[in-house]
Amino acid sequence: MEESRHDTVKSLMNQSSHRLLIKASDASAWVTCLRRIWFDKHQPMTESEPDDFTQFLFQAGLAHETAILEKIAQQHPVCRAKSIDHTIDLMRQGVPVIYQARLVDAEVGLIGYPDFLIRDDNGAYQAADAKLSLSENKKTTQIQLGIYRRLLKNNLPAMVYLGDGRIAQLSGDDLDILVDRFIHSMQTVLADNQPPIVRYSYSRCEVCPYVNRCLPEFIREEDPSLLYGVDGNVADQLAQINISTISQLAHSNAESIPDLPHLKSEKKKNRAILQARSYLTGKLFQLDKIDLPEGTWIHFDIEDDPMTSSRNRHVYLWGFLIPSYTKSCFEYVWSDDESADYDGWMRFLQKIEAYRNRYDSIVIAHYSNHEKSTIKKYAERYSMANNNTVSWLLGEESPLFDLQKPILNSLILPLQRYGLKDICKHPGLVNFQWENDESGSQWSVVQFKRFQSEERLTVKNSIKETILNYNRDDVIATRRLELWLRELSLNNPK
Ligand code: SF4
Repeated sequence: MEESRHDTVKSLMNQSSHRLLIKASDASAWVTCLRRIWFDKHQPMTESEPDDFTQFLFQAGLAHETAILEKIAQQHPVCRAKSIDHTIDLMRQGVPVIYQARLVDAEVGLIGYPDFLIRDDNGAYQAADAKLSLSENKKTTQIQLGIYRRLLKNNLPAMVYLGDGRIAQLSGDDLDILVDRFIHSMQTVLADNQPPIVRYSYSRCEVCPYVNRCLPEFIREEDPSLLYGVDGNVADQLAQINISTISQLAHSNAESIPDLPHLKSEKKKNRAILQARSYLTGKLFQLDKIDLPEGTWIHFDIEDDPMTSSRNRHVYLWGFLIPSYTKSCFEYVWSDDESADYDGWMRFLQKIEAYRNRYDSIVIAHYSNHEKSTIKKYAERYSMANNNTVSWLLGEESPLFDLQKPILNSLILPLQRYGLKDICKHPGLVNFQWENDESGSQWSVVQFKRFQSEERLTVKNSIKETILNYNRDDVIATRRLELWLRELSLNNPK
């Protein structure tokens, strides 16, 4: 009996390099896109080199796992498992902690590698993973940990050792239901010989290794989900009323489209139709007057680090472009690490006060809500909601102005995404190019981590300079965007 079980495990492990097993780690791709998991299982890509940010996250995760291992090893004997059979042996021996365990259910074809198996007083094992955070990829973590529980066949909660020192416990009916849904769906994907039909999603597809397989198909079929503001749900509902392509949508009118659960108002319908026309013609449509506040404009952009030991986002750079808006008008507050977080925040507030005294009626322009929400978080973090500068920044007469708002309210652009870079880089729109084409917020975090770990002063300074240049280009970009909007509103006053 025992031998035949081992034979089954061996034969399962030989199946196309485990590809046709359901692995706990499949949860990540499954949560992202069913088509992606189908490709992973049936037509996988050869592994490509992960980008710098992904490598950085991987290294940070590994460092956290090592720190947890060291902590556990100070309290209990730990054995590293070398295989499935070795894991079973170690469990039989009653080893207190098994590191890098390997669990399998040969009948279901299910496999999972928990970071730790921890033996309780009754001799049962509890699965645990080290994860920096639970909020990001929460569903993936729930499925992975739920699979470990399923493989251990006991009711003990699974544990997550978090980056902030807390230990989360996962169990319950909802977790079991989610795991059942995952296993059932995975069995269907494994049995299917065609990739499932899904909708396009910019944020999901942009970073997917299979984008070059899927995107041409979406474009050929003129899938409406390619349009900004038309997500998979809207595209599905439009298909039910026989609007299945971008051309069909472009030739519709808002009155003829019935109210759909995700497309109810006349305004939203009109936007979707114009977005389709803009996609096909490359034209910009102005819906409304562009209102920009009067005053002395100061352009503002922050760079922050989400990977801190406290898990609080640390703003390492508060950047400004002040009149007369040339490169040399870039000013900033820099903070070397999280221990200088409060100092950086206070210097930011002092700088705001200095601008307030220097200029009449200032407008502090930024792109998207991130800057304002970060100021709110800092005010909470340091209990400073009643501070004069903070109350002014966040109050009814706030000088903060989100430049994305007039764009979202008044314009339809030939774009799939309305980010600062998308609008500014477009040659037919603002046409502003960053000096460093590779730069971006994730790039900046990686550079900042390099800055922090670098000991050679000249290299350290040069890294800091590249981050400053990137932030300076961001605030120059918002200035160019402001000028472009002003010109547009002069030519099309509405
Ligand atoms: S490119 Fe998009 S649709 Fe295709 S597999 Fe990836 S996430 Fe799914």
